Amino acid sequence: MANVYNFSAGPAVMPREVLEQVQKELLSYKNSGMSVMEISHRSSLFADIQKDAESNLRALMNIPDEYDVLFLQGGATLQFTMAPLNLAINKRKIGFVDTGHWSQRAIEEAQLIDGISVNKIASGEDSNYTKLPKIDDSLQENVDYIHVTLNNTIEGTAFRTVPNIKGQSIVGDMSSNILGQRYNVRDFGMIYAGAQKNIGPAGLTVVIIRHDLVEKAPELPAMLSYKKLVAKHSTLNTPPVFAIYCAGLVFEWLLTQGGVDAMEKRNREKAQLLYDYLDASTLFQSPVDVESRSLTNIPFVTGNAELDNQFIELANANNLVGLKGHRLVGGMRASLYNAFPMEGVKKLITVMEKFELEHKH
Ligand code: PLP
Repeated sequence: MANVYNFSAGPAVMPREVLEQVQKELLSYKNSGMSVMEISHRSSLFADIQKDAESNLRALMNIPDEYDVLFLQGGATLQFTMAPLNLAINKRKIGFVDTGHWSQRAIEEAQLIDGISVNKIASGEDSNYTKLPKIDDSLQENVDYIHVTLNNTIEGTAFRTVPNIKGQSIVGDMSSNILGQRYNVRDFGMIYAGAQKNIGPAGLTVVIIRHDLVEKAPELPAMLSYKKLVAKHSTLNTPPVFAIYCAGLVFEWLLTQGGVDAMEKRNREKAQLLYDYLDASTLFQSPVDVESRSLTNIPFVTGNAELDNQFIELANANNLVGLKGHRLVGGMRASLYNAFPMEGVKKLITVMEKFELEHKH
């Protein structure tokens, strides 16, 4: 089988070791004679899987005790609705940092809820979202919380530190950089992330939420209620057992790799190699402001759509797949999540150098 490097933004590359373990255990989990897909979510086998996954995630992210960890479904997209329903309850107003596509989807969903209004407290629109907006930290907004997309998967920007907005709870969408760089959980009221980039298979969403926010949430239909989901340890209905099992294996793998700090170091090295090449190249370039650049999603262009397509073809022929840029921004995008190896970045640069030589202006 060819050695393929998968640069996809998500679903994305998984650690080989994890896939091998899944394969090994697939038919009989822990000698039960049943696949993990077949075991009951009420069994002690699953209870252990979930307990270990949660405690390993807590260890990896230093999640304090006053935060609950939920394993939910519905993707990060459902959190665009659940967060407002549960948390925008006093002022009925949310502050949004508009950093592009995913923050805008979050704004749109919040606006659909009766009685909730939104206020863009900062926007990267002026730079066409190639630069993160400055956030005024003395801002005195009359809102229930401020929503921030920490890593903008499509635009390739990321907040390296959390905007410090005094006296406000921050709700952070970390879908595309959770566990890939260090954040302090205490800087957030809530963090959420779809699993299919840095955690495991799609179908699982991780929510980390401060318990006092859970307590204050209003009465809601069960599947939309953090309070009810917390009370039932995320098993209010049948949870995505297989996805949680895989996520648990990824958390174990991360611990053996040295945890989040080791991952961040590696991610910085991988990203730096590619950014350095892009900044020196006479053909390819990064459209993203240097200070705003993401470690995990790196868009790049030649400035000529036809050349971009030719490059993507050459890359595919060299087993470098998933490099086509998002349809909104075009060009190319290399997603370098935790499980993506340095060798893949080096191979990409080799192919880019070859293409550059052939197409020098
Ligand atoms: N937020 C960000 C930053 C994303 O990158 C994505 C998906 O790529 C989403 C939200 C939506 O996630 P999901 O497909 O899990 O609903």
